[in-house]
Amino acid sequence: MKIDIERERVVCYELKTKNQTLLEALNDIKTTQDASLAYSSGCRSGVCGSCAVRVNGREVLACSYHIQDGDLVEPLNNAPVIRDLVVDMDRAYSFNAKAKAWQSGIVDDVLLSHEDEKLNEVQSDCILCGSCYSACPVYAQNSEFLGPFSLTRVWRYVSDKREQNKKEKIDNIQTNGVWDCTLCNACTLVCPQGISSKADIEKLRARSAMFGYIDPNFASFGFGGGFDGSPTF
Ligand code: SF4
Ligand code: SF4
Repeated sequence: MKIDIERERVVCYELKTKNQTLLEALNDIKTTQDASLAYSSGCRSGVCGSCAVRVNGREVLACSYHIQDGDLVEPLNNAPVIRDLVVDMDRAYSFNAKAKAWQSGIVDDVLLSHEDEKLNEVQSDCILCGSCYSACPVYAQNSEFLGPFSLTRVWRYVSDKREQNKKEKIDNIQTNGVWDCTLCNACTLVCPQGISSKADIEKLRARSAMFGYIDPNFASFGFGGGFDGSPTF
């Protein structure tokens, strides 16, 4: 069995063992063939998200994906390559801060029911693997786009009954945020945690409308609001 790995050029490696995960194969190559091969890994059980790469153009976790003969393994898209399969995700991670994707004010006397907790559980399961940013065609064109996991995280707190500053959170995601997404769903298809950032962005749009914002694309056609989608009130 052979696999190709994109380094500074594509390098083909022969593997003796079949039925391996990609991470096991990378470990084999590093220990028996080429110690200079660089890749990231942590928990080896799909929890830490650090081993995300692309195989045949699609984002996967190396520790979960089972290799096939002829696979082409590449680093994630839309992030600078540090070396081989290791990328620098700092820019994408910085959008959590830009979007203020955290709990900023708690209403003390609101208790969450079991159902409420379940509602926030999905978005809280994000492991920051970066696959959604790699797959996002809008982030590929606009490096200021807040992007899938940050917007998912904003929805996690906007939908939290205890959050006091929902309006502020919605205000923060109007520029390079919810209206820039094309709802293509590519982020959902590659998420190893089953999170749909596309669906979360749709909910954030609905919540934006409740706060008086409208899609700036409609605004520019004269359907009301400012050209920047600012509230009409
Ligand atoms: S939303 Fe999914 S694909 Fe995106 S970083 Fe989180 S776990 Fe990874
Ligand atoms: S649905 Fe939106 S956030 Fe997700 S990949 Fe498409 S453009 Fe990017």
